Amino acid sequence: MHKIDTVRFFAAGSCFQKEGLSLRGGAWRDVEFPAVCAVFRHPQIGWVLYDTGYDPCIYASNTKLSLKWYAKFMKVKVSQRSSVVAGLKRLGLAPDDIALVVLSHFHPDHIGGARSFSKARFLCSRAGYIAACTKPKRLGFHRELLPDDFEERCEFVEDRSPSSEHVLRGLGGVYDVFGDGLVLGVLLDGHAPRQLALLVRGNARSCFLVSDAAWSTRAILENRPPHSITRLIQDDWQTLLRNLKQLNRLACENPTWRFAPSHCRENLATGECRLQD
Ligand SMILES: [Zn+2]
Repeated sequence: MHKIDTVRFFAAGSCFQKEGLSLRGGAWRDVEFPAVCAVFRHPQIGWVLYDTGYDPCIYASNTKLSLKWYAKFMKVKVSQRSSVVAGLKRLGLAPDDIALVVLSHFHPDHIGGARSFSKARFLCSRAGYIAACTKPKRLGFHRELLPDDFEERCEFVEDRSPSSEHVLRGLGGVYDVFGDGLVLGVLLDGHAPRQLALLVRGNARSCFLVSDAAWSTRAILENRPPHSITRLIQDDWQTLLRNLKQLNRLACENPTWRFAPSHCRENLATGECRLQD
């Protein structure tokens, strides 16, 4: 049947930061932020992976110093047993089973495991990728984390059919990713330029993979932005606040939707989101 049954979640590494940074009013102690990947099977395309988490290559001796410093500063924890490849294996999948890897944006906790996929196509935002290539230092982009032939295997969401889905009004551009209405790509500025979120739709509920537009489901449900000090690491603070408000509106208007920010522990607890009755 022409539908997507389930979105499954697993972590590919994690980092440790103060909770109060991610959630205004949160505790001022270190908490673990998993780098969550999501995977689902599209009836025509096959297996689709959303983000690739951290990868143990970040500790390799030939890793650039700037990336090593990043890993140290962010207190990154990842091993072969907690990589994207290990997470897929636990679901009975191998990297070559993945037809399409969607990259939400180009921070190391989202593209870290991208080199594990030597056959898959990639999908991201053209404007987001160009911005990352143009200002790699400011946007925390390390090109070496992507496969050498990334550009030959990459497709851009801006080339897919635009969608005029009314419910998503007020956010960035909306695209019908596979032309069948099952998955909408939504460009959410704020945390990173043209961050690509996916709304995966089913008849019982929809799952909105929002990447780093918020750092927890709670932040969306309560419209609680991160601490203002984090504006230093956000691309566009005012747009981040505006989009968080829009996500809060969507959560109020669509109580059956599940929101899945990339660093939220709630989705890992259940491990999956069933989209059909
Ligand atoms: Zn990010």
